[in-house]
Amino acid sequence: MQKRHYCMACQFPLSVCLCKFVHKICNSVELIVLQHPSETKVAKNTARLLALALQNIQIVVGETAQDFRQLQAFCLQHHNDVALLYPSTVSRPLEELNKAHNIKYLLLLDGTWKKAFKHLSM
Ligand SMILES: [Zn+2]
Repeated sequence: MQKRHYCMACQFPLSVCLCKFVHKICNSVELIVLQHPSETKVAKNTARLLALALQNIQIVVGETAQDFRQLQAFCLQHHNDVALLYPSTVSRPLEELNKAHNIKYLLLLDGTWKKAFKHLSM
């Protein structure tokens, strides 16, 4: 059996490498992705694709409160600048939030809805 070769950047098989289609965007609002460890193994891994395309992005992999302790401290320190993208009954449009705050960081939860909800509950 022939070994499959992968692109070091996008980590897709070389035959379907996406790198030539990716143009880096200098995003002014930094994205912080909380990624469940199981998502790192998903072939599509959209967070990794985002990291290819965005200049200002952090991916924090974890599943316990301990894994996100440093991020939690950062969010407490920057609470007026951080917003979480998550649908709920108390969600507000980002445009509305930006009128009262200068959002500099957006938190995204990467995982199934069940895993994202678990991250949200921490
Ligand atoms: Zn590639």
